[in-house]
Amino acid sequence: MKTITILIPAYNEEEVLPALKEALNTVTNELSQYRFEFLFVNDGSSDRTAQLLTEYSMEDERVKYVELSRNFGKEIAMLAGFDYAIGDAVIIMDADLQHPPEMIQEFVYWWEQGYEDVFTIRKEKAEKNPFKRWASSAYYAILQRLSSYEVHQGAGDFRLLDRKCVEALKDLRENERNTKGMYAYIGFRKKALEYKESERAAGATKWKLSALIKLAIDGITSYSTIPLRMWSVIGLVISFFSFIFLLIEMIKVLIFGSSVAGYPTLIAAIVFLGGIQLVSLGAIGEYLARVFTETKNRPAYFVRKTSNEEDRSESKERDQKDERKNP
Ligand code: UDP
Ligand code: MG
Repeated sequence: MKTITILIPAYNEEEVLPALKEALNTVTNELSQYRFEFLFVNDGSSDRTAQLLTEYSMEDERVKYVELSRNFGKEIAMLAGFDYAIGDAVIIMDADLQHPPEMIQEFVYWWEQGYEDVFTIRKEKAEKNPFKRWASSAYYAILQRLSSYEVHQGAGDFRLLDRKCVEALKDLRENERNTKGMYAYIGFRKKALEYKESERAAGATKWKLSALIKLAIDGITSYSTIPLRMWSVIGLVISFFSFIFLLIEMIKVLIFGSSVAGYPTLIAAIVFLGGIQLVSLGAIGEYLARVFTETKNRPAYFVRKTSNEEDRSESKERDQKDERKNP
């Protein structure tokens, strides 16, 4: 019997958890030929999410949870989920029921046909803010231009991953994660499905605009070095034209004599170049910041507790044995 893990990162989701549990129950009852694990990663919630998860895990042995020591963000929460998931396949789902659980059956169907990464493309987002909508499509367009492998517009985290994909993602240990780019990077046999996103069942979105912008920058800088390299070309072009400009000005001075005119062009040139320099410095800073955080080589997250207390004592024993072996 194959096991399927449903991985749900949850940050302050007390309002939607009861409905989610119901929905998962209904869908998985129809897939009786599989064993299910509902793995919740509690991403440092400050509401009653932790209590609810403890309750659920006592009522239902399929419910497992991993509680992180603080809020690490959805990307890291998913990594923790990959680390703890035991399934032969892992389905990632948001807690807020924006991802229709009925799709699970379709995921499993295509997985059985041999696809290793069954992902979904949002047909039409229930996103009301036109700026957010525009930013999202512009972002995918840029990401696609900059990366050397296919990135699917609107393809999100709502997907089924075969164990092989999960192991690959676990090997990509960077802390500044953009998992959307990673799915494309790891490859494997992919199958695209479409779905219509529903409104959040309850509660408010957990993404702040600043977090979205950071995710967008992470996405580009972790998969492309073009922002780092394009400045040398732009710099060369600008220097070339300014040299021509200088020659013209010199000839003018020789013919007409010098004058104090030209302040506007002078100031314009200085400001323009200053701007370019700042932006390029910023680009270098972006990469340097990443090098900095990655070379520290810190664990991506810390765990307060898990539903599997057995697991923990087991790993403690293992640690002690290791210590005995090489003190
Ligand atoms: N989430 C998380 N940590 C965070 C922010 C969000 O684990 O710091 C989870 C959240 O509980 C939800 C999923 O990520 O299950 C998607 O978040 P949300 O619905 O708020 O984002 P949106 O759908 O608006 O993009
Ligand atoms: Mg949502």
